[in-house]
Amino acid sequence: MKIADRVERVPPSGIRRFFELAEEMDDIISLGVGEPDFSAPWAARDAAITSLEQGKTSYTANRGKRELRELIAETMDRRYDLTYDPDDQILVTAGASEAIDLAFRTLIEPGDTVAVAQPCYVSYAPGVTFAGGEVLPVRTRREDDFKLTYEVLEASGAADAEVLVYCYPNNPTGATMTRDELEEVAAFAREHDLAVLSDEIYAGLTYEHEHASIATLDGMRERTIVFNGFSKEYAMTGLRLGYALGPTEAITAMNRIHQYTMLSAPTTAQHAAIEALQSSDGAVEEMRTQYDRRRKLVLSRFEEMGLDCFRAKGAFYAFPACPWDDGNEFAEALLEETGVAVVPGSVFGAGGDGHLRVSYATGMDDLKEALDRIERFIE
Ligand code: PMP
Repeated sequence: MKIADRVERVPPSGIRRFFELAEEMDDIISLGVGEPDFSAPWAARDAAITSLEQGKTSYTANRGKRELRELIAETMDRRYDLTYDPDDQILVTAGASEAIDLAFRTLIEPGDTVAVAQPCYVSYAPGVTFAGGEVLPVRTRREDDFKLTYEVLEASGAADAEVLVYCYPNNPTGATMTRDELEEVAAFAREHDLAVLSDEIYAGLTYEHEHASIATLDGMRERTIVFNGFSKEYAMTGLRLGYALGPTEAITAMNRIHQYTMLSAPTTAQHAAIEALQSSDGAVEEMRTQYDRRRKLVLSRFEEMGLDCFRAKGAFYAFPACPWDDGNEFAEALLEETGVAVVPGSVFGAGGDGHLRVSYATGMDDLKEALDRIERFIE
């Protein structure tokens, strides 16, 4: 069969290659994964099981169960000051991934430029290409702690873009942005009339300051779509549930695609999510506390090893500079010789080169052992 060019143009994910290598080896400790090592809170799992026992196996409303949308609205308002109408400004999706894809397909005309703040999650650039857009990399810098600044946006030519997409707390760097820092991005977006796609899937996992959303800043609500979901904070990656928050016309248009391509997000997962939002703050706080302990350990051990490591304040990643010039070679040799898997930063686009993504979504014992092995390897 002839495969469409825009699909052929996108290379397979660089992260996968490392997992495939790791799968062939014994005694592997993976600091390569981008998902929690915890299971979903028990109450959420129990609610999913009960819903199945009760035979709740049908589609839901296209936009998601009304009760879930109401709870999402309340939770976002209480925590992040994000106010959205559950009727027409919230869309429940199959993971944040679906929400991101829908937003690209909804906003991008063929040939439109999409500014992508990098290093970043690996799906944005392919998603833009699949939607017919052109990717403009916006390279954030180590000296700015990988934050997005007015200057970096301007220097990259983002003024000519139609859409800007970014993620804070960030995958892969662990960088976060405060409300004041986001003001610069907001000013740039307003001046140059950019639509903003703000991936806030790690909003619940910050360690040194509260999460802030750009959508709460002056004049930004009407030009921003926020993505969030249950995968990271509630350790529900496999249940595939996320959501988008945005202005009525954008969410309505996204739902137009969703109702034909997905119909509704997974029903069982929606039951789990309803329970998670009502009763799992304690379980989430426990996971967050453990991530924070591991984060502090990883950062201090890297410092002792003499690795230049920026102080990550969110998600579950550290992003040290690689001690070798070639991060790919280092990651491959580290895996082969010590059995520790990390991901070379180059996988995450511009600015990632020369760094390593180290995920601390791994139990403390394994994490300590992996750090010991890394130290011996570097020595
Ligand atoms: N955005 C970011 C930044 C991520 O790291 C991930 C998962 N790795 C996703 C979105 C996708 O999340 P979901 O499981 O909700 O599709």
